[in-house]
Amino acid sequence: MADPKFGQIEEAALSDVLASGRLWRGNGVGWGSRHDSAADAAADRLEDAFARWLGLPYAHAVNSGTSANEAAIAGLGLEPGDEVICPAACPAFVPFAVLAAGCVPVFADVHPETLLLAPDAVEGVVSARTRAVVVVHLWGLPAPVVEITAMARRLGWKVVEDCAQAFGTLIGGRPVGTFGDACCFSLQQSKHITSGEGGVFATTDPDTYTRAVLYSSAGVPHFRFGLPVPAKRPGSVGRGHIGFGHNHRISEMQAAIALAQLSQLDEFNRRRAELVALIELELARRDDVPIRRLQAFPEASVSYWRYPFIVPAGRGSFQEIPYLEPAFQRMDRERRTPFGLPLPKHVTYAPGACPQAERGASQIRALSVHHSLTDGELSASIDAILADL
Ligand SMILES: *Cc1c(COP(=O)(O)O)cnc(C)c1O
Repeated sequence: MADPKFGQIEEAALSDVLASGRLWRGNGVGWGSRHDSAADAAADRLEDAFARWLGLPYAHAVNSGTSANEAAIAGLGLEPGDEVICPAACPAFVPFAVLAAGCVPVFADVHPETLLLAPDAVEGVVSARTRAVVVVHLWGLPAPVVEITAMARRLGWKVVEDCAQAFGTLIGGRPVGTFGDACCFSLQQSKHITSGEGGVFATTDPDTYTRAVLYSSAGVPHFRFGLPVPAKRPGSVGRGHIGFGHNHRISEMQAAIALAQLSQLDEFNRRRAELVALIELELARRDDVPIRRLQAFPEASVSYWRYPFIVPAGRGSFQEIPYLEPAFQRMDRERRTPFGLPLPKHVTYAPGACPQAERGASQIRALSVHHSLTDGELSASIDAILADL
């Protein structure tokens, strides 16, 4: 159903990249590289535009949303075995990024209707090793990031905001992604804007930015935004891998398309809002159907990714309870993470661990409000869901 239509803006951006003869962003400013190589790379322009759009000083583009999640966690500078609280309802990519950093995901239960992280549930899973919490703005809804950030500040933890589904959602007029210590976005095909695959990480903190960049670019200090690159020590050899990292670089093709899409985001979001208004009209008109709208968010402006609503228990179709996945069930059996870290006794991935998430998943469905849908296609998808209930 989600079928983005690409047009001349994307086509022109892509031809420019091909004409330039350079499909990668360049080495940037590592020791062994040419300093001019990234001067006008599309990836650089994407980062500049994204930082401006979000109002944050540092942004780093990578090859997927999951890579952006990993960059955000790596940017926090945590230690192996540190615990990171994740919502019990979210894509598995979120806790996988925690595992990749050598840390232990600890799931906290969610609000039974919105499936957003519940602050009191976060309080319930705190341990002496808790260092951070990942808040996911599921569906584009505003998670209680203000309350959770206040708690985190009190307890000395870091906060990551996963905004992969929330391009343009505001809380009290302020964009999600700007409340925590770091945020991540996905540019995968289904998201508000896309380059097929891709992601962006952003932060206010220069140290978080530099750690995230090193992690994402094989430890090469491709630092931008005027941040100093560490000087080569006299006599040291090598290309300038000053830390461990993966190669999560974004390609120029991806970056150029993402930049073209970002320039149209406001327009896309206007169409999404129209589709949401249509759904709400339809649901209000058809009060004979077994469907209930979620609570309102009067303090927020919601940029819906998909439009969720409550259906009779057992008729839901939400599948993203990570600890129920075989990967987590195996960790629970072996009592260790895939990287060999022991799972502390108080950490469990047993079915039933977060009952509100499991209950909520069984009674929620969501409609695509992709900007490419026509009114007729939307009505047809509403009919199809109602017929299926
Ligand atoms: C899509 C998504 C991701 C992962 O992004 P990919 O680009 O698919 O790797 C992470 N978190 C959330 C909330 C997502 O919706």
